[in-house]
Amino acid sequence: MICIICDEAETLPGLTSVLLERDEHSLTFNNVPAQICPNCGEAYTDEAVTISLINGAEKLVTSGVKLEVLEYSAHTEPLRSS
Ligand SMILES: [Zn+2]
Repeated sequence: MICIICDEAETLPGLTSVLLERDEHSLTFNNVPAQICPNCGEAYTDEAVTISLINGAEKLVTSGVKLEVLEYSAHTEPLRSS
């Protein structure tokens, strides 16, 4: 896809970090698969990945975690069976 932020470049598959914040909770997921713009650096995660992140964050918030940095794959449910 063409980046919708800068409209200059085709996005490429890569890894990014996603920060999710709610109230006093701050969760960072590293190594999240995304489409990344090589021109401006904007990262686009697909819907399945986003849902997986939100579900993972929800569990951590429920268990009382306030500040955490995680690897994406280790703390989120796989959405497709391989
Ligand atoms: Zn861009």
